Amino acid sequence: MQARKFEQILTDLKALTRRQRERLLALLRPAVELDKAVGLIESARARELACAHCQSRQLYRHGRAHGLQRYRCKNCGRTCNALTGTALARLRHKGRWLDYLGGMLDSRSIRRSAADHGVAGATSFRWRHRFLDVSKHDRPQCLAGIAEADEMYMLESHKGSRQLDRAPRKRGGKATKRGISNEQMCILVARDRTGQTLDWIPGKGALTHAQLHQHLLPRLERDVLLVSDAHAAYRSFARRAGITHEAVNLQAGVRVRGAIHVQNVNAYHSRLRGWLLPFRGVASRYLSNYLGWRWALDGGRIATPEDLLRAALGAGRSVRFHT
Ligand SMILES: [Zn+2]
Repeated sequence: MQARKFEQILTDLKALTRRQRERLLALLRPAVELDKAVGLIESARARELACAHCQSRQLYRHGRAHGLQRYRCKNCGRTCNALTGTALARLRHKGRWLDYLGGMLDSRSIRRSAADHGVAGATSFRWRHRFLDVSKHDRPQCLAGIAEADEMYMLESHKGSRQLDRAPRKRGGKATKRGISNEQMCILVARDRTGQTLDWIPGKGALTHAQLHQHLLPRLERDVLLVSDAHAAYRSFARRAGITHEAVNLQAGVRVRGAIHVQNVNAYHSRLRGWLLPFRGVASRYLSNYLGWRWALDGGRIATPEDLLRAALGAGRSVRFHT
């Protein structure tokens, strides 16, 4: 638009009634939101921008598409944008992403978010898991000093799955077997005293020393002091791996011996359990996404929709989100 024409519009705007101002704002808002999201996406990806097909950095601007700057590669001639090759490529309605991510920070359910943001349930589902796809891998490399480890169990859930190899269970149902069985998903959490936290889903049923070997060992500094409860798997793992280990015998009522306790990890478990409740059961195959989401929220690692979008874009991985 010509500058003079635009100045004229600005002058005319002064005569608007309140209703008209509201209508004008409502009309502009989607475009403003889209600009905001696009600005954030392009700046978050700027440093890593390379051809998604041949990795060449020799790109030239080639128009815009779907709100984003499009580039053509000098090397292979193909086009890409800041989202090509990411989990968020080809997701639509970018103007609504930041609002939606705000709803995720409030831990809203998929259905509730769909209603709040005027998108279909299937879209809400797809967005949620795409946004979580990258951030779930964003974890510290290693635990040092004193590292607490403990496992918790959640009933396996096939929620949303069409193929059940057993009769469906009522929501929040009970296991048919007592104690830890293959109906339970094991969630292992380890945390050092600087607050660095790691989590894994080793599988179904009781935790084994082999699983600790596979998951925990590569992420422990060699001189770490591992603290756990009296579960035999930890003792056996530590002995075989040559890791210094202390156990608190919770069953005997001993919770703390000086610095020897698993209270930080247990507190993490209880925040995770409490946070999962409103979702009324999480399908086991998406559990790792929810763990990543909880991880990001815990300790305020991610506090704004903008941070969550940056995390989903893989920007500043393992740097920004350390505590
Ligand atoms: Zn290329």
